[in-house]
Amino acid sequence: MLDIVVNNYEISYKFLNISRNNKDDMENELISKSIPVIMLLVLGIIEAIGGLYFNDKRTKNDWTIELVSLLTLPTIVQPAIFILTIWIGKTWLPQYEDYFVNLAIGWQILAFLVLDDMTQYWWHRLSHSNRMMWKLHRPHHVVEEMGVLVTYRNAILYYAFMPGIWLSACLIFLGMGYVYLFYLPIKLAVILLAHSETKWDRFLYSNKLLSPIAWVVERVISTPSTHFAHHGLTAEDGVSHPNGNYGNLLFIWDMIFGTAKITRKYPTKFGAWNQIKEPWYVQLLFPLIRSKRPESELHSIRTKNDYDPSVDFKEFDS
Ligand SMILES: [Zn+2]
Repeated sequence: MLDIVVNNYEISYKFLNISRNNKDDMENELISKSIPVIMLLVLGIIEAIGGLYFNDKRTKNDWTIELVSLLTLPTIVQPAIFILTIWIGKTWLPQYEDYFVNLAIGWQILAFLVLDDMTQYWWHRLSHSNRMMWKLHRPHHVVEEMGVLVTYRNAILYYAFMPGIWLSACLIFLGMGYVYLFYLPIKLAVILLAHSETKWDRFLYSNKLLSPIAWVVERVISTPSTHFAHHGLTAEDGVSHPNGNYGNLLFIWDMIFGTAKITRKYPTKFGAWNQIKEPWYVQLLFPLIRSKRPESELHSIRTKNDYDPSVDFKEFDS
């Protein structure tokens, strides 16, 4: 294992089947990694100019959750999953390394869409019906406003066990690393935009001529309108859909599996279901670190105050 655990930089090239001597491939990887970072910065700046980060809805605790999860996912959690999966593959199944490297690009894209994006849809959906899983996804929904920084607010274990990341690592081992270089930034771009207060999709609804295009777009990928509805406080407002619109890159999964709601509007109140705001390290490291407060649902894996995420908004009484 030691020869694999060198440093992340070396590893990513090795795992994505890219020779460090090939300048084009190195550039592709650099571009692939830069796109989400640049998008995050640009969208964040636009949101800040719009005043998003200067109200009192986002506490210091929220900021810490957002920055820590944003940093740990790409530098620790995802690389660890990739290293482990590929080490297992190289050790026990070496004959399958690069097995699909010559598979048609279309099939490789489909493999990522199904094994990464569709499994993430189900992982996300399960997190809204299972009370234990909800505790790992909860940091994503307790913040009372939207914005790009909401995108990666989830407990570390939510990502560590996410099947899509493990299956992506398997596909890379099987030789699909090159397609992943394109797939991942596109997916991240759609997800960041779907959380962003810039609401890029507004222009699609502003002109009747664009309506047919909007009809297609809002059914194919996640848009701010459909994803904001997922974050909305209560379905009573006629716009929010807290128990649906689970898609990440593709919204098609919500269409297929019957959880889609499209209104072309945006909710005004967001996820304030649980009024207890546990410290950032409890929210991110639960159940490894738990709340000291017995009334918190993060006090234990099962508490008598467990929130049932499948039920629409109820007043938190404590
Ligand atoms: Zn959710």
